[in-house]
Amino acid sequence: MKIKVLGSGTAIPSLKRVSSAYLVITEKCNILVDIGPSVVRRLLEFGYSVDDIDVIFITHFHVDHTADLSTFFFACNYGEVMRTKPLFIAAGHGMLRFYKNLSKVYPWILPKLYELKLYSFQGEAVEIFDIKARAARVNHNKESVGIRIDSDGKSAVFSGDTDYSVNLAKLAQGTDILVVDCAFPEKKVKGHLNLNTLERIVKKAVPKKVLLSHLYPEWEDYRGVLHAPYLMAEDGMEILL
Ligand SMILES: [Zn+2]
Ligand SMILES: [Zn+2]
Repeated sequence: MKIKVLGSGTAIPSLKRVSSAYLVITEKCNILVDIGPSVVRRLLEFGYSVDDIDVIFITHFHVDHTADLSTFFFACNYGEVMRTKPLFIAAGHGMLRFYKNLSKVYPWILPKLYELKLYSFQGEAVEIFDIKARAARVNHNKESVGIRIDSDGKSAVFSGDTDYSVNLAKLAQGTDILVVDCAFPEKKVKGHLNLNTLERIVKKAVPKKVLLSHLYPEWEDYRGVLHAPYLMAEDGMEILL
């Protein structure tokens, strides 16, 4: 399993970091985790197109995690190649309602030549291609989930935006990598983690690596030293598990 960081930033427009999103590459499929502004363009920058994506997982519906979903759908109908292969999208509670509302605003996104499968995580694992995915409610807004992807003996957990969460600690138990919203080094902001609150999760879950992402500009001035298992995400970074 390989993880490519497409974005490591937030809702704050930045030339350095687009909104946090990841490409997970397994033997049999390419998965997008979150799809905020500029993510479709980032795919191209890193040599992929929308047609290469088989699965999209969405941690929650905030704009910085979903704005390019309509861009993606539109490109499936009106891109260089019309999409014909199925697309599977899963998110927390309310996925169907979100899609229906989006397609009321943008009726051009309704699939022309491909099958779209929408799924709301309810607690049980989903098996598709060579992956098994599970989600757990996290502490941000009502539909927010952390998502765990297991494939070929490796696992990656994506927290999405969250505050301290026991569910996330359980989901990330022993995982190879926890890719985590650690919005600020020290500042306490409700609904987000900082290094202190994250450490409580890391102590419980003991992940092999912790990739800090969803980084607000405060991180650029951070002068503290990060030790293993912590790593700071950069757009374009690639991690092989
Ligand atoms: Zn959010
Ligand atoms: Zn966010």
